[in-house]
Amino acid sequence: MTMETLPSTAQSAALFARARAVTPGGVNSPVRAFRSVGGSPRFIREAHGAYLTDVDGNRLLDYIGSWGPMILGHDHPAVREAVAAALTRGTSFGAPSEGEVRLAETVTRLTGVDRVRFVNSGTEATMSALRLARGFTDRKFIVKFRGNYHGHADGLLVEAGSGLLTNAEGALGRSAPSSAGVPEDYARLTLVSEYNDPAALDALLAERGHEIAAVIFEPVVGNAGVLVPTPEFLAALHRVREHGALLIADEVMTGFRLSLRGATGLLGLTPDLTCWGKIIGGGLPVGAYGGRADVMDFVSPQGPVYQAGTLSGNPLAMAAGLATLEVLEGDPGLYTRLEAYTARLAEGLKAAAQDAGVPLSVNRVGSMLTAFFQDAPDGSVRTYTDAARSDTAAFATWFQGMLGQGIYWAPSQFESIFISAAHTDTELDATLDAARTAYAHLGGT
Ligand code: PMP
Repeated sequence: MTMETLPSTAQSAALFARARAVTPGGVNSPVRAFRSVGGSPRFIREAHGAYLTDVDGNRLLDYIGSWGPMILGHDHPAVREAVAAALTRGTSFGAPSEGEVRLAETVTRLTGVDRVRFVNSGTEATMSALRLARGFTDRKFIVKFRGNYHGHADGLLVEAGSGLLTNAEGALGRSAPSSAGVPEDYARLTLVSEYNDPAALDALLAERGHEIAAVIFEPVVGNAGVLVPTPEFLAALHRVREHGALLIADEVMTGFRLSLRGATGLLGLTPDLTCWGKIIGGGLPVGAYGGRADVMDFVSPQGPVYQAGTLSGNPLAMAAGLATLEVLEGDPGLYTRLEAYTARLAEGLKAAAQDAGVPLSVNRVGSMLTAFFQDAPDGSVRTYTDAARSDTAAFATWFQGMLGQGIYWAPSQFESIFISAAHTDTELDATLDAARTAYAHLGGT
């Protein structure tokens, strides 16, 4: 790629400079800063369907989808109209409203949980579910897996994935905690096991099972790049309850993305508690946690575990979430179409990389995909340690090559990309053309 073909990004660069003066690192969430891939992030002016338009007027084919929520594509008419209608009735009541009941009825019906409580982010959902598990079991310790990310509550920033794998200096391979400001006293209550290592989980449970309130996990991991659970690992997760601990599925990323019953529905797992975010809010700030009635009825004001929120159940957010779930439910072929696109994308990326002599190992499930820059056979990257073997410098070069051609990939090797219903054959062809150029460029360096 020659310099002449690179688009102007002057307005984004100018906004980034202003942002850095008033916001830490210039962004409100770390991965947006492009730290691991270099360059200035694009500032987005608007988004429709599969495309973003940045403030310099560049049109970008979006594979991030706001990190998962935009499964229908940006600015979907059903969602826009539902939010616009809700807006005419007021933006927040601080009192119950019908939208909350309707979204809760939809979520319980689709996922099979008995009760659901709405919060404002995925972080709040996991944090609240863990407090509930501790309150219900009257135990202190929790178990999480290396490279899984469950939001930024203190006790969960231990061997965490997502931005922690790319941004925090020295975070890779460091033992608990993953962030400054998390006291060891909190971190020691979080026991860490290796994802996809059933023997390690069994051993931990055999030794400490009686002290463990809950095991929290991503049923398909997105936050170390995509990692798919093995049947043996799923079987070990099923054994968690034999120790009196609760099983908490963090479906913030996978819920309503991999199926209407999430990843656990696909995998045949029945957790005690489930956490949602992203799609459940249709692009507005929503999280939720839900599960068995006897556990959920421990939540205040029904029970002794306190959890509250000024804007929880916000009427605009409920309208956006409900409209999104209604479109998903009303289009039974949608998940199959998303998967077909993703499968063809995986094949195309692999073929293009092979032609250019670039080692690539693709993991994909449904509409989630990570192309790891390493030579392991497809599907064999199963743990955080496997993912960390990737050539992040090669990824960064390829990422810039794609961005220069208008393809907006996730700016980290350790993230999933997300396909939306607005991605069609036109987008697929454009992506694979760009990928061939970007791999060739890489092979030539
Ligand atoms: N859990 C998982 C699996 C996630 O992917 C994320 C966010 N990427 C979170 C929790 C935290 O959600 P939020 O950013 O809305 O706080």
